[in-house]
Formats: sequence, structure tokens, C-alpha cells
Amino acid sequence: MTDEVVVLEPVSDLYLKTEKLLFFRLAFAAVGMFLSIGIGLYTRTDFDYQPVLILIISVLAYAGLALLALKVRLLSTDQQLAILNAVLIGSDVLALTGLVHFTRGVESDLYVLYLLPILLSSYTFGREGITRTALFVSLSYVGILLAENASLLPYLVDPDKTTGLAGAYSQQLWRRILGRSALLVSVAFIWGRFCEYMSGLAEQGANRLREQLKANEQLVNEVKGQAARELLINSINSALRSTLDLNQIFETAVDELGRALQASSCAIVCHSSYPDEPPVVCESISSALKTDNGDSHGIFNSVVCAFVLENKSTYERDPVNNNLIKVFVFRNPAKHETFKPIKEEVERLNFSSLVIQPMMYADESKGVLLIGERDNKRQWVASELDLIKSVAGQVVVAIEHAELVDQLSRKNKDLLHKNLNLDAKNSELRTVQSQLIHQEKMASLGRLVAGIAHELNNPINFVHGNLPYLREYFEDLKKIIGAGDKIQSDQKGEFDGLKKSLKYDFLVTDLDNILADLNEGADRIRQIIRNLRSFSRLDEAELKEASIQEGIESTLKILSEFYGRDKIPVETDFANIPPVLCYPGQLNQVWMNLLSNAAQAMGSVAEPKVTIRTEVDHDNVVTSISDNGSGIKPEVQSKIFEPFFTTKPVGQGTGLGLSICHSIIERHGGQIFCESSPGQGTTFRVEIPIYARPSDLVRTVQDSAYDPD
Ligand code: ADP
Repeated sequence: MTDEVVVLEPVSDLYLKTEKLLFFRLAFAAVGMFLSIGIGLYTRTDFDYQPVLILIISVLAYAGLALLALKVRLLSTDQQLAILNAVLIGSDVLALTGLVHFTRGVESDLYVLYLLPILLSSYTFGREGITRTALFVSLSYVGILLAENASLLPYLVDPDKTTGLAGAYSQQLWRRILGRSALLVSVAFIWGRFCEYMSGLAEQGANRLREQLKANEQLVNEVKGQAARELLINSINSALRSTLDLNQIFETAVDELGRALQASSCAIVCHSSYPDEPPVVCESISSALKTDNGDSHGIFNSVVCAFVLENKSTYERDPVNNNLIKVFVFRNPAKHETFKPIKEEVERLNFSSLVIQPMMYADESKGVLLIGERDNKRQWVASELDLIKSVAGQVVVAIEHAELVDQLSRKNKDLLHKNLNLDAKNSELRTVQSQLIHQEKMASLGRLVAGIAHELNNPINFVHGNLPYLREYFEDLKKIIGAGDKIQSDQKGEFDGLKKSLKYDFLVTDLDNILADLNEGADRIRQIIRNLRSFSRLDEAELKEASIQEGIESTLKILSEFYGRDKIPVETDFANIPPVLCYPGQLNQVWMNLLSNAAQAMGSVAEPKVTIRTEVDHDNVVTSISDNGSGIKPEVQSKIFEPFFTTKPVGQGTGLGLSICHSIIERHGGQIFCESSPGQGTTFRVEIPIYARPSDLVRTVQDSAYDPD
């Protein structure tokens, strides 16, 4: 089953009136019908009721037919309805004329019913309808009366025959005709006046209502405009709050303002941050113009924008209120004096009006707000100009904000940069300072070591040099005493007694041992002195070729408190590597620091062991020093080469050893890497180029450092 929707056509006011009048006719005719039947049946003498009944039925018939035509919408237009009403009123008048005729004619009082069509016509046709109906009614009435009394007409027009009964009757008839016509016409006139007065009143009321409506409409429009303006200002405000990006703010402002004003084009023109560059333009054009242009490019070109921006005459202050900036509205700008210098450009814009709103902050120009209109009929009303002014004010504040924030952030960046520089300089200073301290320490230590070695060298040379003579002299003495043994004399007993008491045999054996010990001791002292000299390398402060292996070995000897027999075993795997161009003293500092760290890391290990391996990899000598000590935690591995980073207790570590190693190796054009597993051990891998470029090694030995711990 489908639902049928019946759509009723709207009906006009005239339709409703016609319908009402038809119902009235039907009701009136129905009542008339019953009355005439009643009167006809009971009083018989008054009038012939049959023709009256026929008349009334005919009224019922045409009214019914008309109503049917109305209901089926056979007649629906106002013109058709007007014709219908005219026909109906005409028929009414004729029907009433018939009624008057059949109810005693001139004697009938039913002529008063003529007022009905007059009143009905006023309802549909107004005063004009009343006049015409009254005329038609009078003509019909006079016509019927004249027709009824045709035999008396000669008496009416012949003044000599106005005597006698016929004359008297004709005079009475004449008076009746005149009197009744006058009555009908005057009633029609009064009714017409009354209707006119009433319709005048109604018209006045309607006019007042119309004016009121117009005022209300204007008010609503104003409120709507105000709301739209507030919406626009709000959206610009929120754009302003949500972003400091000027482009975005400009875009929002021109889009919203262009939409609110329905203008052909709306643009913001600002000075560029760079002096030689054209002005910054942000423009929004109406959709109609977009379609015309075929694209959405702007209309205001750079020449016009630059001119408007630089033309100081558009920055006048409003003479009425000095605080407000004047809005300039140029009608037909192409012909205006102001734009004479760029006449052709402005003509090309094809604007019928151009609004220029300067954007000033204090006395500084921040730009211009331009609104171009191509519609000739466009009138700029005060509320629109107010809106343009408020938007310009908002945009100026936004520009000022953005500029301030930009300045602040630039200053902030500057400060941050300076701060960073200061931090870097500070840490550089601290590093340099600590390196200087260590250089000084190292230099002192080097001088001390070199001094001791030097001071010991001479005496030990005496000792070592004289020891062979001592042995020789001792051998000679032994020979002499041996020769004494062979001599036979009286004092031989005394000689033997002395030998015995002095335990000669023991002395000889012990002296042999002492001489051997002295020899060994002197050798060892000489070896130590050699090691000390080799370690300090003060005599080798220049760049020279040296053996890495020798450097490591001499360092191990210096660290004999950790490494050696009954101490930490050292497993070495030295490859046959060529001498390296280096500062030997500085490289020794590296081995010293790495080996002392390794020894300290293995302090609590049951079976400590250090492995030293050298090899040649491409053009580098690679030295690996591995220990099986405590290892380094992953989270600190990246920090161990930083100056002052230490995990050792205060007094034991300075945190400079590895940073110094790093800088020495870097100075040699090499690299140092660390691999470590906590609890398993650490390997330091040092790569040094065999053929270092001299420029890599320009620093003197004075830069070297030594980690004393
Ligand atoms: P310091 O020895 O004065 O602490 P370093 O710069 O020589 O300074 O070493 C920094 C840190 O690196 C040490 O505190 C230690 O934690 C770690 N470290 C260096 N070498 C080793 C190693 N062989 N085993 C374990 N940790 C080490």
C-alpha cells in the first residue's frame, strides 16, 4: 500500500470570498424558498408563488453550479473569479428584479433586497463594484417598473395629462421610482463611503504594519549584520590567538571580510621585510570573479599595491576624531586624481569603487586594507565601513604581536646562542685549565724523572765502570794470597792462623757473590735509568720515528708495581711493525694511562690478566690493550672520554686520563675505541697512522699530559 500525498494548491483571497458569498446565496435562497412555499401555500392571495419558486430554484442552481466549478477548480485564477463574481452579482440583480416583479411589482417591498448585491459587490469589488452594482440595480429596477407600467408612460411624459386618477397614479409612480432609486443610490453611496473609509482605515493600518515590518526587517538585518561582524571579528580574533603566522592571519581576515562584504576583491598589503622587495599581498576574490578569471589569482598587482602603500595622502587622520584613521572610498577610482600616476593600472582593475583602509599602529604604517568592487550599484554603508575599520584594527594588532614575538624569539635565540657559546667556552676553559695543570705536573714529573736519571747516571757509571777493576783487583789479591800459601816459613803458622780467624775462604766466596750482586745491581740501576729516560723522553721531545713496542715495554717497566713476576701477568703479541712518526713521550702517556686504568679495574679479580697486541691494519698501527677487569657499564661508555668523568672515589680518579689519551691520539691523526662488557673486561683499541702527515703533528711535546693516577 502506498501513501498518497495530496498536495493542496494554495487558494487566493478572492477564491475564499467567492466561496463564502456562494454559501451565503445558497443559504439565503434556501430560506427564501421555504418562505415563498410557506407564504404561497397559506396566504395564496399575496403573490403567485410558482414563478417566485422557479426564480429561487434558479438562484440555487447557478449558485450551486458556481460552487461546484469553484470546488473542482474549474475557475481558479483571480481573473476568472472576478468574472464569476460579476456574473453572479448580475444574475442576483436579475433574480431580484424578477422577484420584485412577481411579488406585486412596483408595490412590492422586496426591492430592499437590492441592497444585498450592492453589499455583496462591495465585499469583492470594493467601492467601484458598489457604484456599478448600484447603477445596474437602479436600471433594472427602473426598467422593470417602466415595463410594468408601460401604459402609464404617456402620463409621465405629457404634463397635460397629469390630472385625474391616471395622472395621480403616474405622479405617485414617478415619485416612487425616484424615491426608491434615490434610496438605493444613496444607500449604495453611503455604503461605498463607509467601505472606502473602512478600507482607508485598513489601508492605514496595513501601511503602518508594513512600515513596522520594514523597520523590523531593517532591525533584523542590522542585528544580522552586527552578528556577522561580531562573528568575523571573533574568527579573526581566534585566528589571531591560535597562530602567530601572519600569512594565516591575513588569509583568514581577507577571506572572512570578503565573504561578509560580498565584495569583488579584498586584500591586505604590507611592507616587505626586505627593502628592495615588492610589498606582501594577501588577496581574496569573490567566487564570481574566480570563475571569470578562470583561476583564483589576485587582481591587485604589485604596482597598485606599492603605490597605495607608499601614497602618504591615504594616511590622513580623520579630522573629526584625530584618533581614528580615515577610510577612503573612491568612486570610479580610475578617474580619480589620486590614482593619476597609475591610471592605466587602475583602469585595468575595472573597479567601480575602491575602499582603502590604512592600517596604522601609533604613527607607524603597518599596511593597507583594500576592498575593490566591480558592481556599479554598490553603495558602501556606514556599518560596512565600520566593519572594515575594525578588521583593519585587529590585523594591525596581529601584525604588531607577530613582530613583537618575532623580535622576542630572535633575541631569545641570540641569548641561547650566546649562552651555549659561553657554556662551550667555559668547558673549553676548564679543559684547557686542567690540561695545563696536568701538563705542568707531567713536565715536573718528566723533569724530576729526567733529573733523577741524570743524577744517578754518573755515580752508577762510576760504580759500573769500577766494578771490573774491583773484580780484577780482587782476583789479583786472591792470587797474591794464594802465592803466600806456597811460602814455607816460621810465620806460616801465624799467616794460616790469621786466614783461619778471618774466615778467608768464606770471605773469598762471599766477596765473589758480593761482586756478582754489585754487578747485577749496577746493571739493574742502569736499566732503570734507561727506562726512566726512555719514559720521560725529555731528550726526545721532537717528532721522530719510534717503536711502539719499545714504548709499551718501557711503560710496563715503570708500572712494575702492577705488572711483572708474581703480579699481573701480561701477555704480549707484538707484530713486526715499522717505527711510527710520533712524539714518543706523548704516546707513552697513552700506554701509561691505559695500563694503569686496566690494573685498577682488575683490583678485585682473582686471576687478572692483560693482553697487549699490535698489528698493522692498512696504514695504521693498531694497538689493543685488553683486561679482564670490572668492565664499563653501557650507560657510561659514551662518557668516559669526557674530561672530568670518573667512577672512581674522590682522590683516586681525576677523570682526565682518557680525555688526555683521546686528545694525544687525535693529535697524531689516530683514533681510540673502547669495547667493554661489565664483569668481563675492557679492550681499548688505538689506531695510529704509520705515516702521519706533519701537519697533524704540529703541536709540541709541551701539550702532552700525564695522568698521575
Ligand atoms: P680516571 O681513571 O681518573 O677515573 P679516566 O679518564 O682515565 O679517569 O677514566 C675514566 C673512567 O673510565 C674511569 O673512572 C673508569 O670508570 C673507566 N675506565 C677506564 N678504563 C677502564 C678499564 N680498563 N676498565 C674499567 N673501567 C675503565
